[in-house]
Amino acid sequence: MASQVIREWVGFQQFPSATQSKLLELIRKSKQERRNTLTVLVMGKGGVGKSSTVNSILGERAVTVSAFQSEIPRPVMVSRSWEEFTLNIIDTPGLVEGGYVNDQVLDLIKRFLLNNTIDVLLYVDRLDSYRVDNLDRQVVKAITDSFGKEIWRRGLVVLTHAQVSPPDGLRYDEFTSRRSEAVLKIVRLGARIRKQEVKASSIPVVCVENSGRCNKNELDEKILPNGTAWIPSLLQTITDVVLSESNGILVDQKLIEGPNPNNKGKLLIPLISAFQYLFVVKRIQKWIKNDIARESRPSWA
Ligand code: GDP
Ligand code: MG
Repeated sequence: MASQVIREWVGFQQFPSATQSKLLELIRKSKQERRNTLTVLVMGKGGVGKSSTVNSILGERAVTVSAFQSEIPRPVMVSRSWEEFTLNIIDTPGLVEGGYVNDQVLDLIKRFLLNNTIDVLLYVDRLDSYRVDNLDRQVVKAITDSFGKEIWRRGLVVLTHAQVSPPDGLRYDEFTSRRSEAVLKIVRLGARIRKQEVKASSIPVVCVENSGRCNKNELDEKILPNGTAWIPSLLQTITDVVLSESNGILVDQKLIEGPNPNNKGKLLIPLISAFQYLFVVKRIQKWIKNDIARESRPSWA
């Protein structure tokens, strides 16, 4: 089980005061709704900026960032507390290895999460890549198979490397919305979200720039090329998702083990029997009755 010493959120004081007051407002709003703890699970492929995003949210270097995948493949939970509010963030190793989803890593993450409740999932990818492919879909499918489709009701797409000049003369907002739509499309496919469900389960997208060279506004807050102070914006979206949903997803033994393929079929047996009785046996009986009723006496009788 993921257990962690809860430390004071010292990174909070490192944020510019404009950011601090926005975050305090969110903390107070959450506490008003009796949400004193928030647990965020961060997942995605390797090298997309998961660990960097964790550090940006915390305002400190809590987890290791590496340009090359030299990280020890294990999840890490960081817990920070401020004004009697606890923020837990779980950073995880990349889910892809050698062109495939690494099921062992996924299993490790699930076991690590045992008895924890997930309030929000950050699905991280890069803003500055121009395509999505089947592997992305497989990653989303693997997350969905592990935690259930409901995880996407608490899902957020986070696109890193957001301080980018769009290609082909596109405007920045045009570029981000196109990339967002492409990633969301693959998420819906991988999570098997049907067309009629899309509106009800709309997944927010937030752009982030983790680099130290990120531009800042006059209040010293890190901003995107469109002027958005992205740290408060990310935490605002996280809070919105949490407050719009009921209790989080508890990772228990049943969820970790998943549906047993041997029992899956067994559950259907009584259903199939009932179907056969109602639609097959009953019908045949009716036909026989009708035939008997209609039958004329043979001449020899
Ligand atoms: P992870 O494997 O998904 O945890 O990715 P990391 O956070 O370790 O980041 C991988 C590399 O990308 C590191 O060299 C980071 O410094 C870099 N990186 C991560 N996020 C950003 C970002 O938003 N902008 C830029 N310019 N670099 C980033
Ligand atoms: Mg990492």
